[in-house]
Amino acid sequence: MAPVHAAAADGRPNIVLINCDDLGYGDLGCYGSDLHDTPTLDRLAAEGVRFTDFYMASPVCSPSRGALLTGCYPPRIGFGSFEGLPVLFPGQPVGLPDSEVSLGRLLSDAGYATLMVGKWHCGDQPAFLPTNHGFDHYFGLPYSNDMGRQSGTPTRADGEQAGYPPLPLLDGDDVIEQQPDQSSLTGRYVTEVLRFMRAHRDEPFFVYLAHLYVHLPIYVQDRFAAQSRNGAYGAAVASIDWAADVILHELAQLGLDERTLVVFTSDNGALDRADGGSNLPMRGHKGTTWEGGMRVPGIARWPGRISPGRTCDELVTSMDLFPTFAALAGTSPPADRAIDGRDISGVLFDDGPSPHEAFAFYAMDDLCAVRSGRWKLHVARDGQPVRELYDLSTDPGESTDVADD
Ligand code: MG
Repeated sequence: MAPVHAAAADGRPNIVLINCDDLGYGDLGCYGSDLHDTPTLDRLAAEGVRFTDFYMASPVCSPSRGALLTGCYPPRIGFGSFEGLPVLFPGQPVGLPDSEVSLGRLLSDAGYATLMVGKWHCGDQPAFLPTNHGFDHYFGLPYSNDMGRQSGTPTRADGEQAGYPPLPLLDGDDVIEQQPDQSSLTGRYVTEVLRFMRAHRDEPFFVYLAHLYVHLPIYVQDRFAAQSRNGAYGAAVASIDWAADVILHELAQLGLDERTLVVFTSDNGALDRADGGSNLPMRGHKGTTWEGGMRVPGIARWPGRISPGRTCDELVTSMDLFPTFAALAGTSPPADRAIDGRDISGVLFDDGPSPHEAFAFYAMDDLCAVRSGRWKLHVARDGQPVRELYDLSTDPGESTDVADD
């Protein structure tokens, strides 16, 4: 029998939030993939709730992550654009300011031990790093894994030649390696998570693990590549599944299963299918405000609290995690500002209705579409006004515009 720890007496759950990079709606077995075997994530869904209508607040990295961390639409926190660019690039003098309250700060102030591992992408200057946003410890890449000096380094969105510094691996605020072996990083990330969970097994803890997969370029371990039916992309998905398996195994070993909420999601949709990913049956891809850009896998598991094997089609968003985690931690979101997320405890635990009357789709600072119930109205695309209406209840692939009806 598992020993009784302080966390049990405390009553507040540990929280493990796993965020992937560019993993598409249709990339997991439990979301219909026939290219990827994801037994652990399928098990996570079978032991918890799988959301069919889980949205990120942006179709690209930095604003999506800022919204996830603060519970706010990106424009509200100055994350609609970054000196005119859609995401943060190395060395920019902007990021998540001190005035914003992140999940790390919220839960740290509530007495949680906090760890962030992996891709941050909310500002790489010291004032913006995770350790300045309530995370006790940080280990990972401060931005995207293509923003280094490996082959395939892109030019910036404004056409400037990138000229990035060597890709930095940070431990706390310190660069401990340049151009790290990316195929080793997922294993190292998992090691950090295990070390932290073991050290803090007796108190409430919060882990935010942000994978580098499946963002391009993809470097993987041979053992995953050898078994992949979908090249490096499939191997990266297998690596994500493996990481979840190790973490779940450790939670069980520590006797923490029934005091730990595990949430799994992705920061935005996959790129075009040619790169290996799938947003099916959704239309569109990363960077677009079609469903495929922003509707992502969303799974939550908490044995004993969340009924197992449930599929939920209520509209929920990444921004909802902020007030929901606050409630679970016995604290409240800051009262001096608007928070766009809503406490979805009722959806998670009681199969209740979505608290959202509407959800807004932003591309940079532009409102492009609004969903309310079954209807999604597009009002702008690529900077041009449009007027299209889709019935997502019968047409999740947004194939038939019914605006004229
Ligand atoms: Mg991404």
